Amino acid sequence: MINKKTTLASHESGAKKKISTNKTQRGRTSASTNYEKRIGRTNHKAARTRRLKNESRMRRPVLSERVLSKKHSDVVPELPKDTVRVLTLGGVEEIGRNMTAIEYNDDIWIVDAGFMFREDDTPGIDYILPNTKYLEERKEKIRGIIITHGHLDHTGALTYITDALGAPPIYTREFTAVMIKKRYEEFPEVKLPEIIVVEPKQTLKIGSLPVTFFGTTHTIPDSMGVIIETPYGGVVITGDIKLDHEDGVVFKKEYEAFEIFKKKKALVLLMDSTNTSRPGWSIPEHKVFNTFEDIIKNAKGKRLIIGTFASQIERVIKIIEIAEKNGRKVAIDGRSMVNNLAIAKELGYMKVKDSTFITLEQMPDYPVDKVLILATGAQGDEYASLMRMANETHKFIKLRPEDIVVLSSSVIPGNERAVQKLKDKIARLGPHIVTYETSDVHASGHGNREEARWIHQQIKPKFFIPHHGFYYMLRVHADLAVETGMPEENVVIPDTGSVIEIQEQGSKIVHLKEKAPNITRVVEGKKVKDIQSTVIADRKMLAQEGIFVIVATIQMRTGKLKKSPDIISRGFVYLRDSQELLGQVRLLIKKIVEDTMRKYPHPDLDKLKQELQAAISDYLLQQTHKMPIVIPVVVTV
Ligand SMILES: [Zn+2]
Ligand SMILES: [Zn+2]
Repeated sequence: MINKKTTLASHESGAKKKISTNKTQRGRTSASTNYEKRIGRTNHKAARTRRLKNESRMRRPVLSERVLSKKHSDVVPELPKDTVRVLTLGGVEEIGRNMTAIEYNDDIWIVDAGFMFREDDTPGIDYILPNTKYLEERKEKIRGIIITHGHLDHTGALTYITDALGAPPIYTREFTAVMIKKRYEEFPEVKLPEIIVVEPKQTLKIGSLPVTFFGTTHTIPDSMGVIIETPYGGVVITGDIKLDHEDGVVFKKEYEAFEIFKKKKALVLLMDSTNTSRPGWSIPEHKVFNTFEDIIKNAKGKRLIIGTFASQIERVIKIIEIAEKNGRKVAIDGRSMVNNLAIAKELGYMKVKDSTFITLEQMPDYPVDKVLILATGAQGDEYASLMRMANETHKFIKLRPEDIVVLSSSVIPGNERAVQKLKDKIARLGPHIVTYETSDVHASGHGNREEARWIHQQIKPKFFIPHHGFYYMLRVHADLAVETGMPEENVVIPDTGSVIEIQEQGSKIVHLKEKAPNITRVVEGKKVKDIQSTVIADRKMLAQEGIFVIVATIQMRTGKLKKSPDIISRGFVYLRDSQELLGQVRLLIKKIVEDTMRKYPHPDLDKLKQELQAAISDYLLQQTHKMPIVIPVVVTV
């Protein structure tokens, strides 16, 4: 650590000395780094200091740079006549916020409008949306929003964006239509667009082109793919997709669904890439159903608690049907699950007696082996039902050794620790735990590599754009397309905001260098905003480093501080244990203020604040290896 006196002294004669201090420090760091290299050890503290320094350097000019560079990429050239333009507005550098737009002459079709839940590095944000600025600027061309299925990564953005797009009609199948309507009920201030219910194999003229729909296998009823039929062939978007099969032998219903491509030429395919890096075939959902038949039938004398996603609607329905068949009552804990099941019931997808359902309060009236509980929170979500059971804070459910807890889900990357904690806590309370690792109680809704290959072979597109996945997944899917015989130059791996054109009568695919506006849009509360990365950076800084406020009151007449500066700090150091540090900071403030006042009796206070901010940030960083947000307040009297 650097000697305090040297550091303070460096400020005495202003900026020049400060630079020399930095130099000394840099020299010291590289010397010690060399030494550490020799002994094969890294100095984490020094590395952290370097990282923080770099971050602070990056933070200051970042905004103007971003604005400038984005302006440049916002300028997408006019669409040439008879060119098919595909815009990937979301879902291509992440799983979530899926949105694709197709533009041809005077029409735009939007396919899906999803959101993404906040990530660890976006504190304070509720949802992340696709950026729809390109579409807003051309909203008179929008002919409709086609929604492939009811999952929130395909529908969640709707209520936040349709007003700005002029509330274009929504085309989707029945189950999705009802889900969307229910969602708009929660947003009474937003206009509910007209919803047109479509069926597989139906063709509708939307704008100037025919649009055909085809049914797909996923985990929610009424999933579909879409074909927008340009004169050069169809733009085919599969939506989320897997195949029903037995040991790789594809079921007849899948052949029937894809029969449509025997007659229709596919110009370009956009397809789900989530699991194409997984070899072979995925576990078909009917296998999961069989596992549940066995578990429920054989759970003699035991109470059953099944945790899964509310979005796995088909599975939840099946579990309830199996429970009824085996004489069990079903209690559901989780609002989203209750809502989804109400829709399934209303539309006749779930054929069970009303008397099969009981409330959580009614559970004690039934013997344990006549009860099955469906719960949310299999990802270890802190406040969800399962975690409350595990924490013994659930009002109605106490876990006991005579319980079987089934976690019917895989672990979403990032949730590993939370799920491990959940399993450990449940295990301590005594129940037997069944997970996807020990039996087939979960299958993904997205097909593996061989399923993707089969789908490519049925559709036989001329061009290919992988989507629905992180960049790596798109790359793996692109390689698969080439493996199935597509020329490499016919494949484009998109980014967020990519503008891809199929030009010259459908003979050539071009990835334009310009991008559609793609500054991340977020929802905070109910408001949609363009993210200002500096706000997020500050929140992260606040969370990790804390805040340090100094208040200097200057007496203008004397050019001296009226009293010792006040210091307020949160989340940085414990003030009471840091009296020496605070004393040095006060001295530093006094020096900077009084030196400035001596030189310039009427100083620019903003400059003075900047000087204080920089000097104190540097000093705190050197002394504590932490970099709180420093806010100087200068009061003159
Ligand atoms: Zn889905
Ligand atoms: Zn999806």
